[in-house]
Amino acid sequence: MSAIVYLTRKAEFSASHLYHNPQFSAEENKRVFGKCNNPNGHGHNYVLEVTVKGQIDATTGFVVDLKQLKDLMHQEVLDALDHRFLNKEIPEFFSLIPTTENLALVCWQRLAPKLAAARLHRVRIYETPDLFADFYGEV
Ligand SMILES: [Zn+2]
Repeated sequence: MSAIVYLTRKAEFSASHLYHNPQFSAEENKRVFGKCNNPNGHGHNYVLEVTVKGQIDATTGFVVDLKQLKDLMHQEVLDALDHRFLNKEIPEFFSLIPTTENLALVCWQRLAPKLAAARLHRVRIYETPDLFADFYGEV
């Protein structure tokens, strides 16, 4: 039995969004979302942290192939979301408000099925250095 280790890879992307619930009236949207309801959107420099959990492979000393993890993060998240208007260009956000919480969820959904040896443990998204959301796959 080899040791279980959690490994985290960090990456940045920039994207814009707005908060709007079509079921709310214009007044409610303003009240609930404030400045974030501006229809022209606004941008953030997001930081994504992906933590995988796995046993250390005795032959490599790794819990995951680092290049594979990097490529996967690029394919599934960074290349897809970077410099996009999330509400209008990312299908998941056509019907889901692109909050930091929902971004963590969407990143998880994009990454989890593609990981083989190591399992996804946590997705953390920083919207600003002072604000981040964690998702552990719990429903
Ligand atoms: Zn924002």
